[in-house]
Amino acid sequence: MTNQASSFKFQVSSFKSLGLFGGTFNPIHLGHLRAAQEVKDGFGLDKICLIPSAIPPHKSPEGIVDAENRLEMIRLAVSDCPDFMVSDVELKRSGPSYTIDTVRYFKSVLPEDARPFFIIGLDAFLEMDIWKSYKELFLRIPFIVMARPGGADASPTYLRKRWKLVETFLKSRISDGYQFSDSRRCYVHAEKQPVYIFDATLLDISATKIRKLVKQRKSIRFLTPEKVEKFIQTKGFFL
Ligand code: ATP
Repeated sequence: MTNQASSFKFQVSSFKSLGLFGGTFNPIHLGHLRAAQEVKDGFGLDKICLIPSAIPPHKSPEGIVDAENRLEMIRLAVSDCPDFMVSDVELKRSGPSYTIDTVRYFKSVLPEDARPFFIIGLDAFLEMDIWKSYKELFLRIPFIVMARPGGADASPTYLRKRWKLVETFLKSRISDGYQFSDSRRCYVHAEKQPVYIFDATLLDISATKIRKLVKQRKSIRFLTPEKVEKFIQTKGFFL
């Protein structure tokens, strides 16, 4: 283990509950941060760990800022936020950044009695059946699925029914043994880890929207932290 890896191990070893929040973060924005903050408070987690993907396996590489600079934007975004930490674990691996490898890594560095959760937006969750070893992920780690506005269908009917989509996905793609527990607001299964649903404040902010605004030379103020906005301007990203 390298020095850096061992110091990260030391850092996380004091946490009993850690929210792992992976993504491309091209760039990180207030939609990510507010939702993660609410998950942290709602579940009483010790920390949220933001994990940028070095090589996102399912996104076209075109228009994606290099991983080091996406990592830097996350560092700037949370530099004054003690509830957050940042992991460069996916930048240290070669090849596509598979979540299963990241989850295995965190399980190996966290203490035995720690409880990591994987935090994910509903849109990404519903596409998990193309992820590498996705069935294994449901055995290894509990998920917290956050509501997300926008997407293909933002009608009120869709918004009301969105949690039904989680159930349909779980039962059709993972196992029909999932049952909803009203008291815990999660889907439980005899052998698998629970899948929690969480109503974070719906902020219709996406990295796509931010990139589009920059390209149109419009302001992105109040969509991402000011330090990130300035960094994007200085580097000339997304133009
Ligand atoms: P893009 O627009 O480029 O696809 P994005 O804004 O969806 O990017 P990602 O980095 O792909 O951002 O997302 C990382 C994770 O954050 C995913 O699980 C996604 O569902 C979630 N997420 C992104 N934006 C929001 C938001 N506004 N509210 C809640 N979750 C979000």
